[in-house]
Formats: sequence, C-alpha cells, structure tokens
Amino acid sequence: MSNSSTILVINCGSSSLKFSIIHPQTEETLLSGLAECLGLTEAKISWKYQGEKYHHALAPKATHTDALHFVTTMILSQHPELKAHIHAIGHRVTHGGEKYSQPTRLNEQVIADLATLFELAPLHNPANVMGIRAAQQAFPHLAENNVAVFDTGFHATLPAHAYLYPLPMRFYEEYGVRRYGFHGISHYYIATKTAEYLGKPRSALNMISCHLGNGASITAIKNGESIDTSMGFTPCEGLVMGTRCGDIDPALLIYLKQKLNLTTEQTSDLINKQSGLLGLSEQSSDFRYITENYEKDEKCRLALEVYIHRLVKYIGAYAMLLDNQLDAIVFTGGIGENSELVRRLVLEKLTILGFELDQERNLNARFGNSGKITTDKAHHSAYVIPTNEELVIAKYTAELVGSK
Ligand code: ADP
Repeated sequence: MSNSSTILVINCGSSSLKFSIIHPQTEETLLSGLAECLGLTEAKISWKYQGEKYHHALAPKATHTDALHFVTTMILSQHPELKAHIHAIGHRVTHGGEKYSQPTRLNEQVIADLATLFELAPLHNPANVMGIRAAQQAFPHLAENNVAVFDTGFHATLPAHAYLYPLPMRFYEEYGVRRYGFHGISHYYIATKTAEYLGKPRSALNMISCHLGNGASITAIKNGESIDTSMGFTPCEGLVMGTRCGDIDPALLIYLKQKLNLTTEQTSDLINKQSGLLGLSEQSSDFRYITENYEKDEKCRLALEVYIHRLVKYIGAYAMLLDNQLDAIVFTGGIGENSELVRRLVLEKLTILGFELDQERNLNARFGNSGKITTDKAHHSAYVIPTNEELVIAKYTAELVGSK
C-alpha cells in the first residue's frame, strides 16, 4: 500500500449502513457517514467531512446498494481526491462461525460460507453480505480487495469450558451450538489500547473490557486473549441491553410462548426488540432517557438498577476468572464512554475488589476523552477508552490487501 492509500470501512445493519474512509497509517478518519431507515419510506443519509455535517433524503425504500451508489456518485464524486485513494474495502461481519476467526479476503467461496452462517446470525449476517455485494457493485475495480473482519474473531480463544453450553453434546457437534461471543473487534481494540496505556505487551495484559452501547458485552481478557465473554450463541445473551434481555431463565421462554401463544418470530422480537431497558422502563431503550428520568420515574429507576446489578455481577465473576490479577477495567461504547453515572454506580460497588473512584476524573472522562477514573492509590485501576472498531477493520484490511 502506498502512504496515501485509504480504506473504505463498511458496517451494515439490517436497515443501516455505516461508512468511513480511514487512513490506516495515520489513523485519521477522512470521511464518515450513516445511511439509515434503508428499505423504509424515510430512508436518509448523513455524513461528516472536514468538520462539516451533511444530510440528504434518499429515495423511499432505498436499499444498501442504493446507499453505496449515493456515496460513490454524489459524495465521492465531489471529492475525486478521496475516491482515487481508496485501495480496499473492509467489512464488519458479525459471525464467522468456527471456520473464520482471522480477517479474510472475500471471494465467492467465502461469501458462500458466510451465507451458510445466516441461520446462526439471522439478524446480522444477511445484512453484512448485502453490504459486501453492494460494495462489489459500487467499486467493481476493487472487487478483489474486499476483506471481512469478524466480530466473533477475538473470542476464538475461548476455552471449551467457557464456550460449551451444558446441553446434549451432539448439538455442539452437529449444529455448532456453542457460545461464540461478539463485539470482538471492539474488545480487541480496547485490549490493544489498554496495553499501550499501561506500557506492557498485550500478551501480558489481564483486564475486563465493558463495551456498553445499544448492544452490550463484557469480556475477561487473560494474557491478552479473550477467555470469557457475556454474549453467547447470539448477541442476546449476557448484560441488559437497549432492547435485548440478556440472561434469562431459558424455561421462561417456554412459559411465555405457551401463555401468549407466541410464534417463533414474536418470541424473537420479544427478547431482541422489546426487552432490556425498553422492556423494563416501558418508555425508552435510550440510556440518556433513563439517566434523565430515573430520579422521577420508578420504572426508569428499576431499569437502571437491574442494569447496574447485572453488570456488577459479571465484573465480580470475571475478576475471579482472572485470579484477581486485574490490570484494569475499561468502559467503552456510547454508555461506557459517556455515562459518568454508570461508571460511578459500578465502581462504588467494587470497592471490595480494590477499586476507588476518582469522581473528578470520572466527570472529566467524556466527549471522546480517554483516561483513568480511579485514584492513584487504588489497588486496581479503571479507565474510559473510546472504542474505534472502524480503525481496527481498516488496519486489518490494509495488512491483508498489501501493496498496490
Ligand atoms: P451502538 O451499539 O448502536 O453502536 P452506541 O455505542 O452508540 O450504540 O451507544 C448508544 C447508547 O449510548 C445509547 O443508549 C445512548 O443513550 C447512550 N449514550 C450516548 N451518550 C450518552 C450520555 N451522554 N449519557 C448516557 N448515555 C449515553
């Protein structure tokens, strides 16, 4: 790759497409944007370039392909210098199964393999493949230079005792029923940055990484590798999330299915789209709303309390998995990076593990700032580090695609 080559990073959800152009060496994001409500009448796109924000309505029911076509013809055509330097395209792919843990150059065989994983990640992988196809159409001259980076990849190191469910073994052997873990790109980035912060090699790092966004997961990292993580077979397991329930009694689903006569799709909607903060508060999945209302609204207060209680339980358990040899706990994601309240409530519960919050540092660690939020005399340290999944994808893609 030449010094001026850049990477287009694409992250597709079922009705959204995030895109950014990143210089993998300087780590600079040159352009970033989001197409939303794809497939719906109010499809729209927004982007940021040189500090300016732009918005545009897309044609009603615009697809992922239409959105990328807009990026190439309407946005990049106005900045030919940007377009000319794009050398490869990196895709965030949710599920790599057991076969794909390393970033992989995409060809028809790999794409066909990803399609076989649709049943393991029906809410995510089909959208990822739509993004890959859309990119191949929009950038036909870069068709060979598309790379998939997997959200499950960092968790390939989970030991069998952490990834097996206590179900009949043949379900694992025949259908791949096991815990995979997700948000791996973010947890990997956080581990790398934390090692840099602490001035030690990642291979010597023992930490707990809390990625708290709309989706949330927590990972125990020992000697730089993921040894347990809260998401499982799907991204629904683990912590309380915006609309996902996290851990529940599995037999509860049988009860609810019978009681309410739910179809499979309704059951999936219930645990993925109607639960979590939204389900408990009956008002919003947005953590800012919960923060603004918990003092005056009983259901928001309960939603916050359940959220914190479960997060603290996981941290306690993971500290034990690391033999309490903890270098750091790190908070990241929209909530982890911005909510001083969550960090304060969690760390106040962790004094027994040797954490001592420095509230001034905690209040200052926001708006994209990284920093330590515990006192210098505390036995263990906690940090806020903004995640940057796009940068990880850009770097892996550049590494794999190599020189022009
Ligand atoms: P995603 O998982 O979609 O990438 P993000 O990492 O952007 O999500 O996190 C979104 C969450 O972060 C939302 O619940 C939002 O309310 C929350 N959030 C953002 N800013 C703040 C803030 N200042 N205080 C509390 N929560 C915040």
